[in-house]
Amino acid sequence: MGMDILALLRHLASAKGEQWMHPDGLEKLRERRLGALLKSSRNVPAYAGEAYCGMSASGSPMEALASAPILGKSDVRRSPASFLNPGKPLGRHTELTTSGSTGEPLRIYLDGQALAYRVAQTYAVTTEFGRTPFDVMATLYERPSIVHPLRRGTIFRELPLSIFDDEAEALERMARSNANIVSSFPSVIASLAHANLSEGRGMSLKSAYCTGEMLTPRDRRAISSSFGCSVFDQYGLNEAGLVAWECPEEHKLHINSSTCIVEIIDDGGNPVTKGSGDIVVTSLINHMMPLLRYSTGDRGRVGRDCPCGRGFPTLDKIEGRKDDLLVLPSGKLRSASFIDSLSEKSELRAYQLIQESASHLVLKYVPNGRDISMAARKEIEAIILRGCLGESVSIDFEKVDSIKRGRTGKIATVISRERVKP
Ligand SMILES: [Zn+2]
Repeated sequence: MGMDILALLRHLASAKGEQWMHPDGLEKLRERRLGALLKSSRNVPAYAGEAYCGMSASGSPMEALASAPILGKSDVRRSPASFLNPGKPLGRHTELTTSGSTGEPLRIYLDGQALAYRVAQTYAVTTEFGRTPFDVMATLYERPSIVHPLRRGTIFRELPLSIFDDEAEALERMARSNANIVSSFPSVIASLAHANLSEGRGMSLKSAYCTGEMLTPRDRRAISSSFGCSVFDQYGLNEAGLVAWECPEEHKLHINSSTCIVEIIDDGGNPVTKGSGDIVVTSLINHMMPLLRYSTGDRGRVGRDCPCGRGFPTLDKIEGRKDDLLVLPSGKLRSASFIDSLSEKSELRAYQLIQESASHLVLKYVPNGRDISMAARKEIEAIILRGCLGESVSIDFEKVDSIKRGRTGKIATVISRERVKP
């Protein structure tokens, strides 16, 4: 469908302004938008069940939302059509298909407004990162990004490449097109950064925009030093759009709180005030397919205040997804986040920890250099054992040339074949 340019410009202006609003003003704006979204949800079949009865009885929109159950990915995958707003006719919509790691696609429908907003938000955020119409941004994704066809003919220039391209070839094409910004999964940009050094190309860039995977401090350093550029992280998902992004001053992730409600929820479904939990989002923009309290499966905690002055609160994202839990021999569950510190090991260029059975782990790794030393291996083993709370697990090391990307093109750092079904 065509892009509503006026809506795009209007959304761009509001997205640029809202980040600086006072938290009280933001709260009011959010309540208003949530109220409208809940109104749109009233006729949505998925919200007709008993579980949602409390919503209409509750007072404020925020209270109503808090009474709704948490929505899982499988709920949406099972019957995406039941989440459609009957008041928004199909036909003038955009469909996004997320090919999840489990293989079953998840369909997300956006109306024209929601689509215009998503594109506007991308512009708003990347211009915060310093992007101008003179820049050429190389984008490397599994397939052309959804907004990409819409960016054509606009003032921003892009060079679409594929993550499956050879690194040397991608760098060559970037050089030929004078690309000075790169946007992709951090592991992809880190591979480019490595190739940039090892092939003595020494290309420099203005900035790198990361999304889709956890950006580790190690990848951030590697990218920044290879290209001499600033690195910006973003957190988003097809189901909700861009949820959070880093401010250029402090590089802290700020939640787009004017258009997205983020809750941190524990395994019992209760809000977490201190500590970490599942990130649950409600995007306030998409009235065609309202997803109330959607569980992302990502883990995080509320961040500290940021001195940059934005009214948007901050979010600390934590490595490891809810579905990346390891089951220890004792039956205890451990979040994959315990291997966080492995990403600090400079001996490892890339790695993947696979739990083959409760007591057997395999670490696939790509060494930096010929191979890792015995001492490094011992240290890595100690980190993993500590993470497993000292339970008796055996660890095998397997040196590989590269870590295989999943169907989505992302790399999972922890895979458990001993998976629990939540
Ligand atoms: Zn900030």
